[in-house]
Amino acid sequence: MPPASAAETLLSWYDRHARPLPWRVSPRNRQQGEVPDPYRIWLSEVMLQQTTVAAVKAYFEKFTRAWPTVETLAAAAEEDVMKAWAGLGYYSRARNLKKCADTVAGKYGGRFPDTEEELLKLPGIGPYTAAAIATIAFDRHAAVVDGNVERVLSRLFRIETPLPDAKPEIRAKMGDLTPQARPGDFAQAVMDLGATVCTPRRPACVLCPWMSACAVQGSALAESLPRKAPKKEKPTRYGAAFVAVDRNTGAVLLRRRPPSGLLGGMTEVPGTHWSEDFDRSAAAQDAPFPAPWTQKTGEVKHTFTHFHLRLTIFRADLEATGTPGLEDAWWSAPDRIEGEALPTVMRKALAAALEPERPGSG
Ligand code: SF4
Repeated sequence: MPPASAAETLLSWYDRHARPLPWRVSPRNRQQGEVPDPYRIWLSEVMLQQTTVAAVKAYFEKFTRAWPTVETLAAAAEEDVMKAWAGLGYYSRARNLKKCADTVAGKYGGRFPDTEEELLKLPGIGPYTAAAIATIAFDRHAAVVDGNVERVLSRLFRIETPLPDAKPEIRAKMGDLTPQARPGDFAQAVMDLGATVCTPRRPACVLCPWMSACAVQGSALAESLPRKAPKKEKPTRYGAAFVAVDRNTGAVLLRRRPPSGLLGGMTEVPGTHWSEDFDRSAAAQDAPFPAPWTQKTGEVKHTFTHFHLRLTIFRADLEATGTPGLEDAWWSAPDRIEGEALPTVMRKALAAALEPERPGSG
């Protein structure tokens, strides 16, 4: 199928099957002249990096309710933004989000630049996000390639080179397929096709508008594409977290992590460094201050991009008197904990410390 008719076929499928997404202007409204809000497109694209649509929706609603424009986000306290982001992971994105909002509100008068080149100058915006914003928000012609697009195109053209080596070829194919008219809708159409029809397992080829053009339609090969280079084994690091609980109020002692590095600026339960050779048998000696620490059974497990983590959990019930020798720490009352900027791993540590010990567990 020539690229122009492939694009036309897919766009007419998209006109009927586009997913309703809170940041998206439907194809019907788009054709009636509604234009996407670059702020909402940018926010959704940053949130969607390494995160699923299902997980992003609630965060997107929360952010746009609290900060409906880039100016309001720029005026927000960074701490409030980090709190609202807590649980979404990859926290450098939240810090860059705030920096980017500051730059757009300050240097660009509240208007996002409309070219890939200019967008790339903004904090936290890499080549993919720049292409996505330029295309979806401003209908610029660019090749937008995310995981869904990689899957669909590697099947459509039977690209058997493993990722990441196949990326340039896939990008070139996407550039060729993307039409001059409606490039933003086209990019979203390929993404939707990947999310709903050309799925990782059991692609629904009989429902696919590209079935007749697809090089692997209906064959077992479809599910095996895109091929991926074998991943390196992730190392496992170990550490301990110490949950101090005020026996009168149930408040827990928290502190802020240093501003840069992993989980930078987020809130944590006081704990040790994390390393592959951490001595778990002597973990109690690493408590941040003397207290009647008791070790909980089991470990908290969490996986980051580059390593697995196993945390030994200690708990002490005591009278809250100040923040014993800890900098940037505070007692958080039970009804405040939910709103703290606690990343998922720290929520797991708290839950493990606060749940009653099961008889015979461990
Ligand atoms: Fe994917 Fe099947 Fe469509 Fe090919 S025909 S693009 S494998 S859903």
